[in-house]
Order: sequence, then C-alpha cells, then structure tokens
Amino acid sequence: MGLPKIVVPEYSLILPSTGEEIKYRPFLIKEEKILLIAMESEDEKQIMDATKNVIKNCIFGDINIDEMPTFDIEYIFLWLRGKAKGEEINLKYKCPQCENELPVSFNIEDIKVKKNEEHSNKININENLGVVMKYPNMSLQVKIDNMKDISDIDKIFKTVLLCIDYIYDAEKTYSTKDHTAAEMEEFLESLTDDQFQKISKFFETMPKLKHEVKLECKNKVKGEGKKKDKECGYKEDMTLEGLQSFFA
Ligand SMILES: [Zn+2]
Repeated sequence: MGLPKIVVPEYSLILPSTGEEIKYRPFLIKEEKILLIAMESEDEKQIMDATKNVIKNCIFGDINIDEMPTFDIEYIFLWLRGKAKGEEINLKYKCPQCENELPVSFNIEDIKVKKNEEHSNKININENLGVVMKYPNMSLQVKIDNMKDISDIDKIFKTVLLCIDYIYDAEKTYSTKDHTAAEMEEFLESLTDDQFQKISKFFETMPKLKHEVKLECKNKVKGEGKKKDKECGYKEDMTLEGLQSFFA
C-alpha cells in the first residue's frame, strides 16, 4: 500500500517584467538537497543549473525559464525560498564601530524589483537609427559561459550583441535573428563610443532586486573610567542588491 500523499500549498506571485501572475509551490526537501549540493560545489554553473531546475519544478504552467530576464528568476527564487524557509530574513554584520555583531532582519515581502525611471529598452543611436534591447536571461548566460578563451571585454561585447532584439532605421526594422553574428558584430563595432555608452546604459539601469535596510547598533559599549556603559549607536543606511546579498 502506498504512503499518504502530502498536499503542497500553492501560491501566486506577479512577475516583475510582465506583470503576469504565476503559480508556484514552495521548494521541498528534494529541491533543497539539489541546492545544497550545488552550493557546496561553489561552481557558478552548477549553482545556476540547480536554481533553474528548482524553479522549473516549483512553478506551474507553461513558462520558459531560459528566456526569462535574470531579475525575474531572482525574484521567483526569493519567494520559493521564502515560502519554504520563512519570510523573515536575518543577516548578521559586524559593527565597524564597536566590532560586535550587528543583526538586521527584514521581510521578503518588502523586497522589490526596483525600476529606474531612465530605463528604456528602446535606444536612439541617432536621429534615424536605433536598437531595441531584450534582457539578459539564462540561455544567454549559458552561451556566454560556454565561450572559452575569450576576454572579459569580449564577454561584455557578446552580451550586448546577444541582447539586441532588433535594429531599426527610418524605413524598416532588422531582426537580430535574421542576421549573422558577424553582421551584428560589424554593426556594433561601427558605433562611436558615445553611441555604445547609450546601449550600456540599458544594462546599468536594468531593474534590480533591491532592498534598503537601516543598520543601527544597539550593543552596549563599556564606558571609560567611571563613565556608564552606553549604546554604541552606529548607524548606516545600506542597499542590498541582487539575490546573493539576501542570503550572505
Ligand atoms: Zn556597534
């Protein structure tokens, strides 16, 4: 006779990139095992694969994770973990003033994907020429990781190249997928530094998982001589950015 099946709760969240609602379940022991093994390896690719597999397991419906912007992936992961392990995150820092432990806690619900007002995926290069960008995603990351023996500068260049969705001028649009990598490279290399910076801005201002915390040290420090002990009182406003910073 089979053992009883355990009913897993279902939750929903709003995807930051599209505003679309997706349903998910928290990750279970089997998924936690996958993650722990990957973490132990300290291998970036293995961690990424594990994260991807866990998300694939836990979200319902026909959703292509490989094509999803990285910030969506981070946001989903945060919630999967939150429902599994608790929504309160407790981090510990060391106070730079008294050198005691400085704990800070906050709720996952308060962590948002912040959008920069200057951000746009449509970039005018000059009066009648421009590009439309798409966000870096997992499949792009895999492509870049698989390019061995190329410099970091080349990796940045390739990332930009792979994130161009199409080019447009006054007459028509030119989809990246209808053109060879060599053609795209030639296009990108023919830009001035100024024009290239405009495209770089797309990446700099991309939505990010972000949370601001206020550190306040309440540790007691010994008063000198006959003075009474007092609170350290060190204060700092800190911005946590990206998935790693929430579990450090
Ligand atoms: Zn302190």
